[in-house]
Amino acid sequence: MTPSLIVLGAPGSGKGTQAIKVASEYGLMHLSTGDMLRLEIENKSEIGLVVQEIMAKGNLVSDELVLDLLKKRFEKKDKSYLLDGFPRNLKQANMLSEQLSELGCEYRVLYFNVDLALIKDRIVNRRTCKSCGEIYNLISKPLSSEGACLKCGSRDILQRKDDSEAVVENRLAVFQEMNNPIVDYYMSKGLLISINAQQDEVSVFEDLKKVINSLK
Ligand code: AMP
Repeated sequence: MTPSLIVLGAPGSGKGTQAIKVASEYGLMHLSTGDMLRLEIENKSEIGLVVQEIMAKGNLVSDELVLDLLKKRFEKKDKSYLLDGFPRNLKQANMLSEQLSELGCEYRVLYFNVDLALIKDRIVNRRTCKSCGEIYNLISKPLSSEGACLKCGSRDILQRKDDSEAVVENRLAVFQEMNNPIVDYYMSKGLLISINAQQDEVSVFEDLKKVINSLK
């Protein structure tokens, strides 16, 4: 059985795109806390109203709130998960480790290594198809010449509000502040596997498959 996987990496490191592919390839349950929170905002739920402004600024929402959302998605039966966007700090890492051991899940951490100096361009050019969730980059992975999704043909293409130039700087600063302690935490437990996420999408996926196959 494939162990549960945690993907760690800067915004724009490509972890979201690869997480979707990996989850589908290995039958893992993909849990993206960012997607869950965006859905709460879209549904105008109580949680959505609380987090909307925090997310728009690129800051982190409260640990308890995210963990509560996440807990609802963990099932008791035998399952492997792919966690994307969680943990964001050491408190969350500890909470997650407890939760996964309660569920009896073995796990590894895939760290998407990228040069942060190049990442801002990747983020501001990111677009997502609202219909099927495919993620594009206006420069490296463009839409059709009519601006439609190449996978499902939809023209309902969105730019995330927090992918704007004004917010990206803060998101990267938040990432830089929080990231090193988490990387050290998982490295000291011998769970961290570094992935060269500087490569193109296909090569990163090939590397991921090699690594994950060696874990089974
Ligand atoms: P992401 O889609 O992972 O880039 O997350 C988008 C935004 O959702 C972040 O900038 C945070 O505001 C919020 N968020 C997502 N995951 C977490 C988390 N684990 N802890 C706190 N805030 C989070």
